[in-house]
Amino acid sequence: MADCLFCGIVGGEIPADVVYRDESVLAFRDIDPKAPVHLLIIPRQHIADVTELGDDGGATIGHAMTVARRLAQENGVSGSGFRIVVNTGPDAGQSVHHIHLHLLGGRALAWPPG
Ligand code: 5GP
Ligand code: ZN
Repeated sequence: MADCLFCGIVGGEIPADVVYRDESVLAFRDIDPKAPVHLLIIPRQHIADVTELGDDGGATIGHAMTVARRLAQENGVSGSGFRIVVNTGPDAGQSVHHIHLHLLGGRALAWPPG
């Protein structure tokens, strides 16, 4: 989608520290990490947010979840714990409107979130 930052990363026009890619998802390091491990996992397909997931959207997000599990292991936070976050809409502070999973770990994470 034109003017979408994450579509630009998928297309290779915008550089990113990509740690994983396959036919349906891409994972890269967050440019402004909020924890020692802060990765973003996104579908290649442009979906703005959870409210725009179609009936078949769960398969892609489920796959992204599996990738997050693998990346948590590879980044050494599987045992210590981690958080997967999907901000959706203004109250959640979503700033990039291409659906993404945040994988956060490597420190104790406060709960509830702010
Ligand atoms: P949101 O606030 O939408 O849940 O998360 C968007 C995330 O994208 C933020 O954590 C922000 O730091 C990250 N981000 C914004 N612009 C870029 C960029 O150009 N490259 C990368 N790698 N991450 C970005
Ligand atoms: Zn997009």
